[in-house]
Amino acid sequence: MESSEDRVLIVGAGPVGLCLALKLAKDGVASTVIEQLRDDNFLDQVPRAGTNHPATLELYDDIGLYRRLEPRGIIAPLFHYWDREKSELIAEFDHAVLGNDTRFPFALQCERIKIVEEALAMAKDNPLITVMMATVFTGFDQDGDGVTAFVESADGDRDRLRGRYIVSAEGARSIVRKECGIEFEGFTYPDRTLNIEVAYDFRRHGYSDRNYISDPEEWSNLFHWKGPPERWRVHFPTQGDEDPDALTAPDALQTRLQHFLPIGRPFEIIGSNLYTVHQRVAAKFHRGRAILAGDSAHVNSPIGGMGLNSGVHDAFNLAEKLAAIWRGEEGGARLDRYERQRRHIAVQHTQQQTIRNKKLLAEKDPAVRRRNHDELRRQASDPQLARKFLLRTSLIESLREAARIQ
Ligand SMILES: Cc1cc2nc3c(=O)[nH]c(=O)nc-3n(C[C@H](O)[C@H](O)[C@H](O)COP(=O)(O)OP(=O)(O)OC[C@H]3O[C@@H](n4cnc5c(N)ncnc54)[C@H](O)[C@@H]3O)c2cc1C
Repeated sequence: MESSEDRVLIVGAGPVGLCLALKLAKDGVASTVIEQLRDDNFLDQVPRAGTNHPATLELYDDIGLYRRLEPRGIIAPLFHYWDREKSELIAEFDHAVLGNDTRFPFALQCERIKIVEEALAMAKDNPLITVMMATVFTGFDQDGDGVTAFVESADGDRDRLRGRYIVSAEGARSIVRKECGIEFEGFTYPDRTLNIEVAYDFRRHGYSDRNYISDPEEWSNLFHWKGPPERWRVHFPTQGDEDPDALTAPDALQTRLQHFLPIGRPFEIIGSNLYTVHQRVAAKFHRGRAILAGDSAHVNSPIGGMGLNSGVHDAFNLAEKLAAIWRGEEGGARLDRYERQRRHIAVQHTQQQTIRNKKLLAEKDPAVRRRNHDELRRQASDPQLARKFLLRTSLIESLREAARIQ
């Protein structure tokens, strides 16, 4: 059955698709969210994002999502850079210096799964949002008036949905991007990252809730995810050709953790997974009425916690443009501006910063390491430099810069 409706079709009930639907609804625009997962397996997704920066918290607050996330997350005003070789804290940054820049001078450690759980519940309650769970998007067509999405239900029934625009919030494997023939430009790192989830409170060793740890042999990230009971995640690099089963064997995980921090007894390991890291940006963010947002438009290393955050920023920017189109403004021009603003941020901010973050942690040259660490110390110890540094890492600067692009 084909329904012709004055709405936006959104593929994917990830954080980007759901924030877009909620913001559009706030502006009076109806949408249909198409999600392949079912209600009974929606929360079984692999662990991913968890750090939500101040700029993003303001946007969550705008749609009423923040107040649902705060009680489920950890407020983290501090983050640390450590030198693992010397077991030394290099620099502590405190978001308090952003007190005049944001109502949220801290990061919120709150996992992607909790974000989508809360946002999905809100979307289901909103009369302007139709959520179609257990529905696989398989392709689309567009014409002068709108778009037709092809979908398949869990029973194999095929259907066609009609809308004025289609937004791909499907993640990195976006079918919309491929069908539009848009290049996903960039590269993939040959090494993979190992994530180990541990029940242990690392704060007793001086760590903060978020720690970036440099080491010429084995850099790592250490993040507090939830608690009590305590749950932390430690990320380590691995070689691309190492056997995944050997890397994630319980003994191998334990040995790696004890090498990182010997605690005199075994760590309680909750789980582990390996992931490949890509640095890619789509050559275009829209083609006609088909628009890319979030991971379908750009992917990056998670060091710095920017993928989800910048994707949510895409969603809010795009919602504003679509709402203007609904009020009668010219569509093509609005979407071109969305592309100019958000693609610029993906290329000039997110990509550059995440590539730099990894290089900083993995640097092997002792002289360069020393220089990098001295620079971090200098920035952390001067409140003005610390503010400048945090405006960039908290993505406030990227939002301000995007707003200046016509
Ligand atoms: C280990 C790790 C840690 C990370 N940590 C951070 C962090 O701390 N901070 C941060 O900002 N980012 C982080 N990221 C990145 C972050 O997880 C992603 O950028 C973010 O989830 C992208 O959101 P999205 O909504 O664009 O896509 P996704 O989260 O991938 O959601 C896409 C949705 O679309 C659905 N879908 C896909 N295909 C179809 C289809 N054909 N039909 C119907 N539905 C479909 C999927 O089921 C899914 O629900 C991390 C990533 C990893 C791997």
